[in-house]
Amino acid sequence: MGIGLAPGFDALLAGILGLLIGSFLNVVIYRLPKMMERQWAEECAELAGTSLEPIEKFNLLVPRSRCSRCGHVIRWYENIPVVSYLFLRGQCSACGTPYGLRYPMVEVVSGALFFFCVWRWGWSPIALAWCGFSAALLVLALIDWDTTLLPDDLTMPLLWVGLIVAALGWNPAVNLYTALWGAVAGYLSLWGVYWAFKLVTGKEGMGYGDFKLFAALGAWFGWPALVPMILMASVIGAVIGIVMKFSSGLREGGYVPFGPFLAGAGFTALVFGPQSILQFVGL
Ligand SMILES: [Zn+2]
Repeated sequence: MGIGLAPGFDALLAGILGLLIGSFLNVVIYRLPKMMERQWAEECAELAGTSLEPIEKFNLLVPRSRCSRCGHVIRWYENIPVVSYLFLRGQCSACGTPYGLRYPMVEVVSGALFFFCVWRWGWSPIALAWCGFSAALLVLALIDWDTTLLPDDLTMPLLWVGLIVAALGWNPAVNLYTALWGAVAGYLSLWGVYWAFKLVTGKEGMGYGDFKLFAALGAWFGWPALVPMILMASVIGAVIGIVMKFSSGLREGGYVPFGPFLAGAGFTALVFGPQSILQFVGL
């Protein structure tokens, strides 16, 4: 496959594209929860028969990115993935407030995943599908980490696209049958765990977003991948949860979001194959 260039060069181009898209993913991670909050506030106000103070237009494209401290508008040459971060030494050019290391990290991870997909599958429909999968999963992981929310606006399309990719036969490893049952079993298994946990302890250990995300992973990887992925997510989630507890890094309510660990299992399944997870732990 490919556009007639050496495979390594194709992958390099994809990696650069991934860096640029990673820059946009940072915007989505930061703004989408704020947009959802605003929408909820508007709906509540409508129900209460009042209205909110109008605010300036705010979506994924407008307004331009600004320094959160001094309001300095980020110019295009200050917004080149990774390069600008290094050139500005990670701080606002106007007031010197440090930008988080997370911005370039998201760009690098996005670039690496795009590089991997095109290196592995060439410029092909399945490579582009996995690039989209990677971008959505990265955004979901970080929004869940920040806000403990997994927006339906991302989990539901991810689930549907997984089923469609299987129906189109793009992925030789997953047919529509394994994808469909993967989605069903993914959702129902965590739903069952949620209710069992709730009946026994009276607490909620997960949210409905986790069921939908796991259903999406089932659609992308097929039902046989569910057990290895849930094992990996649970073990790593438990270890990190315990570490956070003892380092008093636990947030309000002692809640550790599960989505980032499901996403981590999804990335591992993408790069190494779902069954390799079992081999790691010697099963
Ligand atoms: Zn500033």
